Amino acid sequence: MKIVKATPANIRKAAAAIRRGGVVAFPTETVYGLGADAFNPEACARIFEIKKRPRFDPLIVHACDARMAKELFLKIPEPALKLMRKFWPGPLTLVLPKAATVPDIVTAGLGTVAVRVPAHPAALKLIKLSKGPIAAPSANLFGRLSPTTASHVKKQLGNGPDIILDSGKTSVGVESTIITFMGGKPVLLRAGGIAVEEIEATVGKLFIPAKNSQKLSAPGGFKKHYAPAVKLKLVNTEKGAIPGPRAAYLAFSKPPFGKYKKVEILSSKGDLREAAANLFKCLHSLEGKGIRVIYAERVPGHGLGRAIMDRLKRAQY
Ligand code: AMP
Ligand code: MG
Repeated sequence: MKIVKATPANIRKAAAAIRRGGVVAFPTETVYGLGADAFNPEACARIFEIKKRPRFDPLIVHACDARMAKELFLKIPEPALKLMRKFWPGPLTLVLPKAATVPDIVTAGLGTVAVRVPAHPAALKLIKLSKGPIAAPSANLFGRLSPTTASHVKKQLGNGPDIILDSGKTSVGVESTIITFMGGKPVLLRAGGIAVEEIEATVGKLFIPAKNSQKLSAPGGFKKHYAPAVKLKLVNTEKGAIPGPRAAYLAFSKPPFGKYKKVEILSSKGDLREAAANLFKCLHSLEGKGIRVIYAERVPGHGLGRAIMDRLKRAQY
C-alpha cells in the first residue's frame, strides 16, 4: 500500500475504494482519519481490525455538510444547531441520538452517534465523491499517538489501509472537541481543537464531568491513550526532570538547560494553538530509538491548553 498525494485524481480513486467497501486514511484539520463507508458494517469492521481497536469504542462519522450530518441524528436540540452553525466545518463533534440507519458497529451499540464536518478540502471532497458519510477514527493503532502526517499513519498501520492520502501536516493537530447534551444542557465529553471558552460563548456554561465519572466520560476516553511507545512523565518545570543520554524533553516554549538526547519545543512564542498543532509531531519525534523517558512540561490549562494537558496526562500511564 502506498502513500499518494491528495490530488483530485487520487481523491477520486480513494472515493471509489470507499464505495467498494475499502478503508482509506485521509487528512483532516485535526489528525489523519482511517475511513470507511459509515453505512457498510463490514467495511467499518475492518477499521477496528486495522487499528486493533476494541469494538466497544465507537467511531466518529464525518459528513460533508450539516445537511448530511443531520440525517444521522434522530433529533437535534436547539443549542446543538447553534454549535453546528458556528463551528462547522471544524473540529467539533456532536453526540446525539442516532437515526435508525446508522449501523450498530459504528456506535458500538450505543443509542447515540458522534458526527462532525471536517474543515479540510481533501476530506470534504472525499466524502462528497464517496456519496455518503465516512466513519473514521484517528488513523493510529489503538491507544497510541495520533497521526498528524501521512508518514505517521504508515509507521503505525503499514499496509492496513488500502490507500493513504497525503496532504502534509494537519493544521489543528489535536482531535475534535466532543460535546453531548443532557436534559438540553451541553456536556464536554472530550477537550479538543475548539476551546471550551469558545463553546461557552455560544451555548453558555458547559458541564464538565469529573474525570472518574464512568457514565459521562466518552467511551474510549481511556486513562491510557494517545501514548508514545516510551514512558512519559509530566513535570511542572525542568527541576522535575533528570537529564541524560536516554532522556528526552518536551518543552512548552523555552529550551531546557540540561543535556538530553533530544529536545522538542511546542511553541517558542508560547502560543497554545501552535503548541497543539505541534504536539503529536513532537511526541512522534521523541519516541524514537534510544530514549527511555520523555519529560513533558505542563502547559497553561486555558484555551487549547486543556486539550494538550488532557493528551499529556493520558500519555503518562
Ligand atoms: P477518535 O476519532 O479515534 O478520537 O475516536 C472517536 C471517539 O469519539 C471515541 O473514542 C469516543 O470517545 C467518542 N465517541 C464516538 N461516538 C460516541 C458516542 N456515541 N458517545 C460518546 N462518545 C463517542
Ligand atoms: Mg483516536
